[in-house]
Amino acid sequence: MPESSVAKSARAMADHDGGMAEQQQVPPGLTSHMTPEPDHGESSWTGRGRLEGLKALITGGDSGIGRAVAIAYAREGADVAISYLAEEEEDAQVTAEWIRRAGRHVVVAPGDLRDEQTCRDVVARAVEGLGGLNVVVNNAGYHWARGEAGLSGLTADQVDRTMRTNLYATLWVSQAALKHLGRGDSIIITSSVQAYDPSVSMIDYAATKAALNNLTGSLAQDLGADGIRVNAVAPGPIWTPLGPATKTPEAVANMGRDTPLGRIGQPAELAGAYVFLASPAEASYVSGTVLGVTGGSPTF
Ligand code: NAD
Ligand code: MG
Repeated sequence: MPESSVAKSARAMADHDGGMAEQQQVPPGLTSHMTPEPDHGESSWTGRGRLEGLKALITGGDSGIGRAVAIAYAREGADVAISYLAEEEEDAQVTAEWIRRAGRHVVVAPGDLRDEQTCRDVVARAVEGLGGLNVVVNNAGYHWARGEAGLSGLTADQVDRTMRTNLYATLWVSQAALKHLGRGDSIIITSSVQAYDPSVSMIDYAATKAALNNLTGSLAQDLGADGIRVNAVAPGPIWTPLGPATKTPEAVANMGRDTPLGRIGQPAELAGAYVFLASPAEASYVSGTVLGVTGGSPTF
C-alpha cells in the first residue's frame, strides 16, 4: 500500500529529527505566523458524500485540527458552523472560505467559550444559521506549558482557563445542543494522548483530557437510549497554532520526535477519525469509544 500524499507531505514538512523549527506566538496563535503552515487537507481531502446533508458545529474550527475537520466535513457534504475567539477572525475567514468552496453553507460564531452563556449562544447561532444540528465537535482547547512545570507552578488563572475551555465548554456546548440532536446524530469530544501519558509540563491540561475520556463514557450511556452516539478522538502531537502559542520554542521543536512513527502529525491526518465518528452509516454502532491518532503512542 503506497504512503498517502498527506503522510508524505507531513514527513517532508518535519525536519530530519521529525519535529519543527523553534518558534513562539502568544495564545491563541495564528496559522499565518507558523513556519511552515500546517496541512489541513486543502489539496488532498476527497469527499465521498459520507456526511451528505448533515449540519455540524465545530468549536475551535478556525485553525489546526478544527480547520482540517471543517474542510473534510464540508467536502463530505455537511454544512458547517465554526466557533473561535474574536482575535482569530483571520483564521476563521480562511476556514469559512474553504467551506464555501466546497459548496456548503457556513456559519461563523465567535465567542469566548469559558463563559457558559456564550456556549449556549454559539449553539443557538449554529442551529439558527444551519437550520438544525446533527454533529457537535467539541474541539476548542487550551494549555499553558511555559511556566514552572508541575504542581508548584500552577496558578488559579491558568487552571481556571484550562478547565473552563476544555471541560466546562464541552459540557455546556453539548448540553445546549442536546435538544436539537436526534437518532443517528453524534457528539465528538477532542481528548489527547495526554489523558494516558500525562506530562509534568501540563498537569492541569492532562487532567481535563482524562476527564473528557470519562465523560465520553458517561454521555454515551446517558444519550444512547435517544440514539445519540458520543465518542472522542485522542490526538498525539499535531502541528497547529496551539504548540507555538503555549509551549517553549524548544518544546515546539521536539514535538513528535519521540513517537513510534518518529514525527509530528499534520491536522489533515486527524480528519478521517472525525469523519468516521460523525458518519451515521459507518459508525452506527460506535459509541463511548476514544479513537487514538497519535503516531503510535498507545491510548489504552
Ligand atoms: P488550535 O489552536 O488550532 O485550536 C484550538 C482552538 O481552540 C483555537 O483555534 C480556538 O479557537 C479555540 N479556543 C481556545 N480557547 C477558547 C475559548 N476560550 N473560547 C473559544 N474557543 C477557544 O490547536 P489544535 O491543536 O488544533 O487544538 C484542537 C484540539 O486538539 C484541542 O482540544 C487540543 O487540546 C487538542 N489536541 C491538540 C494536540 C496538538 O498537539 N496540537 C494534541 C492533543 C490534543
Ligand atoms: Mg485558532
